[in-house]
Amino acid sequence: MEKIGITAQVPIEVLIAAGYWPVDLGNVFLADDDPGRFVQRAEEDGFPIRSCARTKGIYGVCLELGLKTVIGVEGNCASNTLLLPMLKSQGVRVLSFAYPDQANQLLVQKKLEDLAEQLGTTLHRAESVREELSEARGLALQIDDLTWSEGLVNGWENHKSLLDTSDFSGSHIRYCDEARQLLQMVSQRRPYSGDCVRLAYVGAPALFAWDLYHFLESEGAHVVFNETQRQRAIPNPGQSLAEQYASLTRPYLISHRLRDITAELKARRVDGIIHYNQAFCGRELPAMLLRRTAGMPAITLDGNDEYGLGKRAKVRLRHFLEVVRRLRDSERKISDFLRSERRVER
Ligand code: SF4
Repeated sequence: MEKIGITAQVPIEVLIAAGYWPVDLGNVFLADDDPGRFVQRAEEDGFPIRSCARTKGIYGVCLELGLKTVIGVEGNCASNTLLLPMLKSQGVRVLSFAYPDQANQLLVQKKLEDLAEQLGTTLHRAESVREELSEARGLALQIDDLTWSEGLVNGWENHKSLLDTSDFSGSHIRYCDEARQLLQMVSQRRPYSGDCVRLAYVGAPALFAWDLYHFLESEGAHVVFNETQRQRAIPNPGQSLAEQYASLTRPYLISHRLRDITAELKARRVDGIIHYNQAFCGRELPAMLLRRTAGMPAITLDGNDEYGLGKRAKVRLRHFLEVVRRLRDSERKISDFLRSERRVER
């Protein structure tokens, strides 16, 4: 199967039905031990220093892997106006996919048909691929459930398992094997204690993700909700591709995203939010809007091409966790008191 690069979440079922295997260029960039070299390559080729590192990373990865074709998502990212022509100038064939403005199944269906036509396949074939991938997506969502409902999966494992579903790292069969192994391993673990601070991570995955999750863990915090990563696994798949891709939150209005976030914060009993803000990106959630809507403590970490969590960020996070812990404990005391008073009144 020929590899095809993807710059954001796209309907991979259509690509696979057309005989391609998708490679999520952003994931390859994030997972690399030396991601700086991709950024450097892009800057040498003319990308501005002051621009989104992820875009530059995607460009660098695409060239290093020698991919012949890439699907760019129109309207998804302002940086694409530079990325896609730069890739074309390097001889890469750039195809495009665009989500409709509204999360409307009929409109999504039309966009899927356009993509299938561009790639010389049919939606009928793509629906069969959807069925093939459903087991892998189901396992990813099972891992997600065990993270918050049973406290058996750590934040990094959750992040990685969900993020990888955008292309299954090249093989959904291997993905299923690894997911089953993880599920088996965590079933032997002791769950997180009730004293752990329960956190949500909202925003695009940061380059310093590995450092961040491990630092939080060492400070007694458990990330029980990874917003963007969960969307990759398509938590509401529905009955068709059109329904599936209309159920996503990020391609559509910000209100969809906020609705999903607030529902999950409540269901997962989150105590505080880590909000990541990628520099030079117009698609990130404004911090003020998130704070107002969520109604709980949130800290915003800004980043672009930092590959590790700096000292200052660690100090801020420690203070934040302290505040969240105190607030949670005092709320617990108040609700314990109210409960005991109700018992007395009865
Ligand atoms: S982080 Fe924002 S600017 Fe950068 S690639 Fe993603 S959508 Fe584009």
